[in-house]
Amino acid sequence: MTTPETGRILIVDDDPLVIRLLASALTQYSTLMFATSGNEALKMIRQYDFDVILLDATLPDQSGYEICQKISRQLERDGVQVIFVTGQTEIDAETRALECGAVDFIRKPVSVPVVQARVRTHLTLKQRTDQLKLLSRIDGLTGVNNRGEFEAVLRREWANARRQKHPMSLIFIDVDYFKKLNDALGHQAGDDRLRAIAKLLSSEINRNTDLVARYGGEEFVILLPNTPQSWALKLGQNLVDKLFDLNLPHPDSPFERVTISAGVASIVPENENYDTLIEAADQCLYQAKTDGRNTIVSATA
Ligand code: GH3
Ligand code: MG
Ligand code: MG
Repeated sequence: MTTPETGRILIVDDDPLVIRLLASALTQYSTLMFATSGNEALKMIRQYDFDVILLDATLPDQSGYEICQKISRQLERDGVQVIFVTGQTEIDAETRALECGAVDFIRKPVSVPVVQARVRTHLTLKQRTDQLKLLSRIDGLTGVNNRGEFEAVLRREWANARRQKHPMSLIFIDVDYFKKLNDALGHQAGDDRLRAIAKLLSSEINRNTDLVARYGGEEFVILLPNTPQSWALKLGQNLVDKLFDLNLPHPDSPFERVTISAGVASIVPENENYDTLIEAADQCLYQAKTDGRNTIVSATA
């Protein structure tokens, strides 16, 4: 778990004295950046990920409220905590700030202990939310992405590939004779093998757009955006071979070790139906099983 000190904070104020005061109150945080105008702030917010933004309500080029509106989607998506810092005394200043997506409001002149306490609270909340978001995407047993995350990424990448007319590849993987492995060595050993396979698959993935997920039971998928079938087949064959070479004992397999079968399909998406990619890869996997297992089959289409 990250500690509050790893927090990334942006201070936006056109008064250098306020910036200096806030900065000295928050020196323990590892990333502390500053902006003195709305445009400068917007540029930084688009470029970097911040956890907390201390935002002056009145800036020379635009108001803090306008900035908040411009970044509202990002605020919601990333859970960025915006705290307004303002000398405005109007009764509705606080409500306006909260309505446009801020989580808190600090009045000038700034009290250092108040700033420190509020920033610490919002940072902790942000980091807990980040952690929960991460856990909701991860498979508890193996630590790779879960099926829900796979489907969310597939939907997104499918739309990208369709727009850009890029091929998208999918490798479907199923452990061979896994039921027999559980029967012979116990469920716990089966779980250990699943973790070892997930580790191998993850270690062979290079690009950060590639995704390994546990599809269910003893089935895994690897999604490879912008990848032609020839490359996906090569990668899949390499995985089948590497697991074979790991030589994880399986007393009831004709290979005397844990093996996988895989199916590969590639499509340049033309419609919204990404199930066609899953079905094509699944059919190839079925063929790999029929062909004797410990092998990979790719679609010919
Ligand atoms: P095939 O070679 O045709 O793939 O045969 P198989 O035995 O691997 O396939 P089958 O679908 O018959 O059995 C899958 C087994 O995987 C049955 C189930 O108990 C086991 N399994 C599913 N999820 C888990 C899990 O999380 N941990 C363990 N240890 N076993 C699991
Ligand atoms: Mg299966
Ligand atoms: Mg199986």
